Amino acid sequence: MNSQSNAAKTVAILMKRYPQKADMDLGNPADSLIATIFSARTTDAQVLKMFPAFRQRFPDWKSLARAKESDIAKSINTIGLYRNKAKSVKALAKMIIRDYDGRVPKTMDELVTLPGVGRKTASCILSACFDVPAVAVDTHVFRIAHRLGWSKGKTPEKVEADIKKLLPQKMWGEVNRTMVRFGREICIGGKKPKCWMCPVAEWCAYKPKTKEPTERR
Ligand code: SF4
Repeated sequence: MNSQSNAAKTVAILMKRYPQKADMDLGNPADSLIATIFSARTTDAQVLKMFPAFRQRFPDWKSLARAKESDIAKSINTIGLYRNKAKSVKALAKMIIRDYDGRVPKTMDELVTLPGVGRKTASCILSACFDVPAVAVDTHVFRIAHRLGWSKGKTPEKVEADIKKLLPQKMWGEVNRTMVRFGREICIGGKKPKCWMCPVAEWCAYKPKTKEPTERR
């Protein structure tokens, strides 16, 4: 069996195990984009907790563009890097109104010009909101792609390119969506992934596979 079919099989198994949509996929491009920007260096749970009140205060791009940066910061001060994020989101609102007629753009080239938006965030939005095939490489995808033997790339861009070569386009968007949950539950960071309970261990190149810890008596 070649590595392409192993990779596709791996993603198919993860898709069955993790059918939920991404936590930051909030049903429309504007909410999803802002929430994804907010989620950097913060847990998704923290973002989901503060987001409804934030949106009530600033319900659209206009209200964000007009707001004082300090007021935006105050309304999001439960999440990490809130001052930088307030600055980004105000600049983002202004740019979306000025350059994109109030709509989130639908291409990678346009998305990465927006304040606070890098390739990873752009890829999340493309696949979740616009059905455009994209691979978002965050820390989970980066780590798991290396363990699986999909990539030896030292940068997210190289890992993204390697994954795109391995998988059919229709699976690109599933990689981040499923691996974030898989990376929190089983193929966790640090030295001890939970290989003994891994549904894709058969197709994983990681050599020092871990065993279930035995209970101390
Ligand atoms: S076998 Fe272990 S290292 Fe490989 S994907 Fe599963 S949990 Fe991760």
